[in-house]
Amino acid sequence: MGVAILALAGVSRLSTPRYFVVTLKQLEGRNFRIQQMRGQLMEGFEEAWARGMLWSIVLGGAAAGGISFILSRRIVRPLTQMRSITQEFAAGDLSARVPASDIAELDALSHSFNRMARDLESVEQQRRDLVSDLTHELRTPLTIVRGYLEGLSDGTVPNTPEMYGRLIRETTRLQRLVDDLQELSKLEASHLPIHLQTVDLALLLQQVVHRFSGQIDDDDPRTLELSLSDKLPSVVADPARIEQVLVNLLSNALRYTSAGQIKITATRSSTHLWVNVADTGMGIAPDDLPRVFERFWRADPSRNRDSGGTGIGLAICKRLVELQGGSIQVEIQLGEGSTFRFSLPLALDK
Ligand code: ADP
Repeated sequence: MGVAILALAGVSRLSTPRYFVVTLKQLEGRNFRIQQMRGQLMEGFEEAWARGMLWSIVLGGAAAGGISFILSRRIVRPLTQMRSITQEFAAGDLSARVPASDIAELDALSHSFNRMARDLESVEQQRRDLVSDLTHELRTPLTIVRGYLEGLSDGTVPNTPEMYGRLIRETTRLQRLVDDLQELSKLEASHLPIHLQTVDLALLLQQVVHRFSGQIDDDDPRTLELSLSDKLPSVVADPARIEQVLVNLLSNALRYTSAGQIKITATRSSTHLWVNVADTGMGIAPDDLPRVFERFWRADPSRNRDSGGTGIGLAICKRLVELQGGSIQVEIQLGEGSTFRFSLPLALDK
């Protein structure tokens, strides 16, 4: 604005009197007699020009200054507010959010900040949940072990091999919990390598099912069946990781099916091959379905704890399947058990 005023003043100071002189000459050319009055006219003109210029500078300056002040306040106020909100956020108030702004650029900035704030809040919530789940999971076996050891030391618990067996079971469970957690944390941080290759899934399924059929003898009220169509297309996956997922799903199916059938089938969609592990076991309550793949979730924590379940197996399966480009789902047939199904991308040449 200063530059504009100076330019206006300079240009009009230099050029206006000259144009005025030219106009006077033209008037003289048309025989107006103004020679005697020329000096006064010039003086009058200069005075008028100086007053006009003064007023325009005063009024223009005041108007421009006022508008600049209002505009800069409109920009600076939300920026100051944003700064104090980010300071609150940094100080630990993760619920702090920046309000919307009617200036488009600032509004975009507050949206980005709020999105980042929401993500950080949910990470923080997950961290808190993990710590609280972990302490809960570790406390129970530790309390049991401690109780047995105290009983053994003061003689209230008999010093029998069975007692040592219980202690070993509890510590094995603790060991498994720690191992599972380490694996899950590596998977979540993507530190566990996935070696993708073309895999003949039929062969892999046969090998895993063969391993499990050893656990089912002739008197067992459960049957394990692999039913595949003639030729399965190849998939792109990491065989060791698929095996891990299958072992987990089959162990669960056997663990939660006291009598009945466990059947493995495979179906094909346009892009993926789906492996279905269906059992006729105890099933899962419909309300619990959304939580099945959550870390530490167990339908019946106390009973599953006895059977060695940590509630981490399915969370690991989900992550493993997703890292291989597939997805995992669970379906229930009311009163007829559950079906876990996961998909793997088909190899391109098939
Ligand atoms: P866990 O080590 O406890 O089995 P998972 O993550 O593998 O941990 O499973 C979580 C929970 O899901 C189990 O505790 C169980 O309640 C339920 N679940 C898993 N598979 C089945 C199944 N085939 N039938 C019924 N419930 C199941």
